[in-house]
Amino acid sequence: MTKFHLHMHPASEGDALMLSWGDAERPGHAMVDMGRSKDYVLLKPLLQDIGKLDLFVVSHIDADHIAGVVPLFEEKRLPFSTAHVWFNAHEQLSDANDRLAPSERVVLGVAQGEKVSAGIAATDWPWNAHAKSRVISIDSPEGAQPIPFDGGLTVRLLSPSDRKLAALLPAWNDALEKAHLRDIDDGEPEEEKGGGRVRLGGLNVDALASARFLPDSAKPNGTSIAFVAEYGGKRILLAADAHPDILERTLRGLGASEDSRYQIDCFKVSHHGSKANTSASLLSIIDCRCFAFSTDGSHHNHPDPEAIARILKVDPVRPKTLVFNFRQPSTLCWDNRALMDQWNYNCVFPEEGKNGIGIDLLHIDDLWGKS
Ligand SMILES: [Zn+2]
Repeated sequence: MTKFHLHMHPASEGDALMLSWGDAERPGHAMVDMGRSKDYVLLKPLLQDIGKLDLFVVSHIDADHIAGVVPLFEEKRLPFSTAHVWFNAHEQLSDANDRLAPSERVVLGVAQGEKVSAGIAATDWPWNAHAKSRVISIDSPEGAQPIPFDGGLTVRLLSPSDRKLAALLPAWNDALEKAHLRDIDDGEPEEEKGGGRVRLGGLNVDALASARFLPDSAKPNGTSIAFVAEYGGKRILLAADAHPDILERTLRGLGASEDSRYQIDCFKVSHHGSKANTSASLLSIIDCRCFAFSTDGSHHNHPDPEAIARILKVDPVRPKTLVFNFRQPSTLCWDNRALMDQWNYNCVFPEEGKNGIGIDLLHIDDLWGKS
């Protein structure tokens, strides 16, 4: 028996994703991010149980992805080890900057040590060892090919680029100073923040889908490590909080187009379903019917209805599934029979009393039967 499974653990408004693959008795494991510090408490027994990961990814420095990693490195004895860790710290940003053409380079700030970099450095975990340059970037030569892992998983890097990494350099110190590492996730244009999203009279998908698209310009999000993982003929796109332009550009580089869409079995939508990260043009070059959202809706009321409306509108006829790791106002509003009938989708939520939600990627079509 083999498996290919994603579990979206509860991670406040952030991500804590466990991907498992291979022999069901002894699967491989990749952990992507750890949510906020309180979320680490729930993850620790699981990580102890697993003992050794194949890959541990810290996608970028926003607190809703990295704050849970800080208490990990405060442990006297680490609860797990890993065959590989991927994290682009100041040194990697700086190296990416040095690779850019002189006219594109940004002026450097002063390097500052910080907790996660120091924590990784204190382990014997191979850090960014898949790239000779030690920079996890689509511009590292190794990033152009699928990266194989034990047990048959391959990983195709979609983000970040050297440019996106270098762009964060001037703000790196400021970003870290804001409460522990970086306390806010300001990927929304200022005027878009806050406000209740559940409208009286329901959601108008046509109107929401045609709202003007303003792309995310938050530099930390641009450094997100995003990738397609493939096993057993199935693919999942784990997009972290990546910018839509880099995802689209990399996928087009792999041959994706409106006429030849890139097939994905599950898309962990970027930036918790922010309307600034899922463009109609990105959706138009992928062929996917299962969309997963990781957020409790705090801070930004994610997922944004505009992002989900675009997802429904681009593929109105085929059955689609929306998977949420929290029941909260911005997700429950889609659990509406009339909307589901009109746009041919279903919603899957965590079962009562369960933490987070799992997706069986080898039998993804079975999700259609659940609601
Ligand atoms: Zn985030």
